This record gives sequence, C-alpha cells and structure tokens, in this order.
Amino acid sequence: MSTVSCGRPIDGATALAFLLGYPVSHSLSPAMHQAAFRASGLNAVYLPWAVAPAHLAQTVDALRGLQNFLGANLTIPHKEAVLPLLDALTPEARFIGAVNTIIREGEVLLGDNTDGPGFLTSLAAALPNGPKDCTVVVLGAGGAGRAVALVLARAGCGRLTILNRTAARADELASVVAATVPECSVTAGPLRPDTRIEPAPDLIVNTTAVGLRPHDPPLFAYDFLEAHTAVYDLIYRPRETPLLAAARHRGCPAVNGLDMLLEQGALAFERWTGQPAARAAMHAALQD
Ligand code: NAP
Repeated sequence: MSTVSCGRPIDGATALAFLLGYPVSHSLSPAMHQAAFRASGLNAVYLPWAVAPAHLAQTVDALRGLQNFLGANLTIPHKEAVLPLLDALTPEARFIGAVNTIIREGEVLLGDNTDGPGFLTSLAAALPNGPKDCTVVVLGAGGAGRAVALVLARAGCGRLTILNRTAARADELASVVAATVPECSVTAGPLRPDTRIEPAPDLIVNTTAVGLRPHDPPLFAYDFLEAHTAVYDLIYRPRETPLLAAARHRGCPAVNGLDMLLEQGALAFERWTGQPAARAAMHAALQD
C-alpha cells in the first residue's frame, strides 16, 4: 500500500488538492496543507503540479472530471490566466483579477482570492488595533496590491495612498477602490527609489516583488522612515527583506508575509473542507 509523507495510507477514498504553478518546487504550500490535513485527520493529500502555461486549460478541465477533487491553489504564472477557465468567480477574485484558490461546488469550479482576508488577519502583528482610520501607503498595484488595497479600504482605513512603478496602474487601482469604497480617501502616485513617503503614515505595505533578491534597489527613500510607521512586507523569503531591515533599524514594527501565507492558506483549507484549519500545525510546518 502506498503512503504519503503524512503517514496515512492512500486509499480509494483519498481526496485530492493541488497547487498549480510553474515552477512549484519553491512553494511552502504543500508542506503547510499536508500538515493541516494530517492534524485534522482528513483522508486527503495536497500535491504540487508543475503545469506549463500551454497546458493550464486542459489541466483545469481535467479537475472538473475528478470526483475526489477537493480544491486547488494557484501560483505564478496561473493566477490571472485561470480566470476565463473557471465556471464562476467570487466578487473578490473578479475585482482583483486573480484567483489563488479553486473551490469545487458540485460540478462548478469557483475561483476565489483569499489574499485580502489572509493579509488582514495577519496584519495584527504590525498594527494591533487594526487599520481603521489609519493612514496607509500600499506599494504596488499588481494582484497582491489590488487585494491589499481593497481589503484595507473595506476595513475602514482613513486614507489610502497607492504607489507603483507604473503610475498608471496605481491610478487605475485607486479609482476602482474609491468607486468600490467611497468613504475611503484614495490617492495614487509613482514609486521610485528616491520617493519620499511623507508625512509618515501609520502603515506601509510592500506588495511588489522588490526585495525577493538581495541586491534589489530600494523601493523608496528608506532614510525618511519614522519609528511610528509599521512596515509590512508580503515577501516571506527572505524572511527579512532590505525594506524590513531598514524598518527594524529605525525602530518601526516590521512584519514579513509568512503569517499572510498561513492565513490565506487556512481560508482555502476551510473553504475546501468546511472545517477550521489547524493553524498551529500549519504554522509549525512553515517554521520548519
Ligand atoms: P504581480 O501581479 O506580478 O505584481 C508585481 C508588482 O510588483 C507590480 O506592482 C509591479 O509594478 C511591481 N514590481 C515588480 N518589479 C518591480 C521593480 N523592479 N521595481 C518596482 N516595482 C516592481 O505580482 P503579485 O502576485 O502581486 O505578487 C507580488 C509579491 O507579493 C510577490 O513577491 C509575491 O510573492 C507576494 N505575495 C505574497 C503573498 C503571501 O501570502 N505572503 C501572497 C501573494 C503575493 P509594475 O506594475 O510597475 O510592473
């Protein structure tokens, strides 16, 4: 009889969950979700599927026919490309224009995006009183930036500024967030290594890919960071980006994206299984 790393035998009733990406070898999601299945005693496995872009459509179609398919996560480069392949989208996925979770509802494959609520739950480590009435600067206007900007506006943040290398994308995001949450004051601007973020906001969130590589140029002029600004970087590998190092050096609360990874995964798990996610086990797997 075959076994998987959780030690539970695979049998005819084993349910399947997948990560679809290309590549997937770097991902922490399989370890995190397998730990959750194990801790919950579920007869399920979570498998990384390295799907080349040209084969995404036929892969999604194959999921439709899998009667023991529980759900899936999507990562680069499939988060946007999968949208037209699904049967339905949640309002969040539609707004963000990206899907990170597929949920099976009978014959229907529903695309959702759990990044926003996952981020908001994990934000307590940086901003214990939450974002209500806070001034926030979001760096980036890609998929993660859209999720973060929308959830912050909905959570009652007082003033939201979106800065992005391609300023037109920041403008577009600011206008759709303002239209969706009219009570939030939203502005936009360009983001360059010499940008000064003044006056110092309550929170700066990096949703760009800058900081993944150690020699990335600074996102903005870090010298103007003030100690009362909390800094949250969605990147979790490396655990301390140059932005977080600069923030910590200046006495700012500085938090990486590992807890967001956990929370967005926990929400996916709960939507697939209808059970509370075993967050402690997921956390331990991520720490490993
Ligand atoms: P995306 O849609 O491709 O957006 C990338 C963003 O980064 C855009 O705003 C882009 O600006 C900006 N950017 C890229 N290279 C840049 C550079 N050299 N200088 C300045 N800006 C640059 O990607 P995404 O899905 O939003 O993901 C963004 C980051 O969030 C990734 O590092 C990802 O790992 C992380 N993330 C973390 C979690 C978590 O659970 N912790 C979840 C989701 C995403 P332009 O518009 O100018 O191209």
